[in-house]
Amino acid sequence: MDFLDRLNPETELSDRVRTRFFIDGDWREPRGHEMLDLVSPITEQIILTVPGGSTADMSDAVDAARRAFDQGPWPRMAPAQRGEILRKMGEAIAARIPLLSRIWTAQVGATIGFTSMFTGLIPSYYNYYSDLAGTFAFEDVRPTFQGHARVIREPVGVCALILPWNAPLILLSQKLAAGLLAGCTFVVKPSPETPLDALILAECAEEAGLPAGVLNIVPAGREAGDSLIRDLRIDKVSFTGSTAAGKHIGAVCAERVARCSLELGGKSAAIICEDADLETAIGTITPFAMPFSGQICFSQTRVLVPEKRRDEILDAYVAAVEGIKLGDPWDERTTMGPLSMARQRDRVLGYIDAGRSEGAKLVRGGSNGGFNRGYFVEPTIFADVTQDMTIAQEEIFGPVVSILSYSSEEEAIAIANNSQFGLSGTVFSNDLARAERIARKVRTGNISINGLQIDPGVPFGGFKQSGIGREGGPEGLEVFLESKAIYFPGDAAA
Ligand code: NAD
Repeated sequence: MDFLDRLNPETELSDRVRTRFFIDGDWREPRGHEMLDLVSPITEQIILTVPGGSTADMSDAVDAARRAFDQGPWPRMAPAQRGEILRKMGEAIAARIPLLSRIWTAQVGATIGFTSMFTGLIPSYYNYYSDLAGTFAFEDVRPTFQGHARVIREPVGVCALILPWNAPLILLSQKLAAGLLAGCTFVVKPSPETPLDALILAECAEEAGLPAGVLNIVPAGREAGDSLIRDLRIDKVSFTGSTAAGKHIGAVCAERVARCSLELGGKSAAIICEDADLETAIGTITPFAMPFSGQICFSQTRVLVPEKRRDEILDAYVAAVEGIKLGDPWDERTTMGPLSMARQRDRVLGYIDAGRSEGAKLVRGGSNGGFNRGYFVEPTIFADVTQDMTIAQEEIFGPVVSILSYSSEEEAIAIANNSQFGLSGTVFSNDLARAERIARKVRTGNISINGLQIDPGVPFGGFKQSGIGREGGPEGLEVFLESKAIYFPGDAAA
């Protein structure tokens, strides 16, 4: 079966988005000659070739962001004024939801239903931080031994935002909306596989009246990315991506004491208790482990089931997965598209081989589903997985779920915690007190009970090797702020 690419870049994208970078409020011609091929995960054909940033382009972008921070109006505006521009950016994005959803689907193969739903949530990040401008304490006054101090939260400075390919605009917006409210300026390096979303965002920023130099966007590969994180004019790096690249970026930042936030990988556990309502549990886990082919950092990829209900839960889960329709992501009826790129497909098939050879039981899936083109991998379930197996420990970032059995609540918690990661998790039980007791003992940054929630007003991020820092909520703003104390003699009222 052959699918077609439905995005027409020539007619749907502006010339500047296809051929330029956004630097200093201007659409600049590339200074180098590097080109990035955007390959369709559905047809394996090149959809579009766009310029990739060189170290010289990156340096120009840093220059502009530095000037905008040191001399421009943005960091000096009242938070409420910045909040107004944030709201306008949210409106400009809302007006482009169909286009942004189509670009997301075309670049990475997520189904159009999935990208439309999640693109629809993006304005809420801008709205949330716009609202927070009115309530967050950017200053407070405290009595001291000899007088009082005014504690001011200032923007941390010029920030490099480095992004992965899986959910490019959401992951950018989580960082950017918070950092803009803080008063920072930015150089954004989208992933070389998904450069388009951020450039469309630049059009939204222009429309909203963001001052020149506050937001600079240069899609690029690792070499130019590396020059960005090493640039002494960058005060903070905020990175989302793999744990391996995050460790490198963290080490580079530590060397020069640059601020650094990391949103990294996960291997999240869904704990199904003996008294759980199966319909709720399976109904939650299936969409959050499988669609978008499992390429979501908070995928619930380890399903922990009580021994006594193992067969019943496994049957229910397999039945639910049978209902997933693998195919053309442009078709509204499809619930799972291909993996995003050939190297992802190869990586996932490698993990499936490892699962088989280490003795896990392949219950369903495991192949390319019979598609002769496109990076397809079927939804795959392994049962009888033990904790020491590679598929139970490493992040696969594909549609592969491991079922592990446990015999007591303590053992379920121990298995959930037996991971280098600590990003997300879920607990399913009809006894909310019990579910909360378990949730409190699992070492992850986020855990949901009888469902899976993420909200712009609540911090998201990882324990252990899943990262450092938080995005969302006031905590997501705080990572873009520095605290400064100004001491005064006498008491505050004097
Ligand atoms: P990746 O680490 O390979 O790349 C991410 C970004 O970092 C890309 O823009 C890449 O060009 C850049 N990069 C890589 N090395 C660099 C270097 N030395 N200097 C500067 N930039 C560098 O990750 P990926 O394959 O794009 O994304 C998949 C990973 O992202 C998965 O591990 C997934 O769990 C993780 N992820 C985490 C979250 C989260 O919020 N925790 C969200 C989405 C994805």
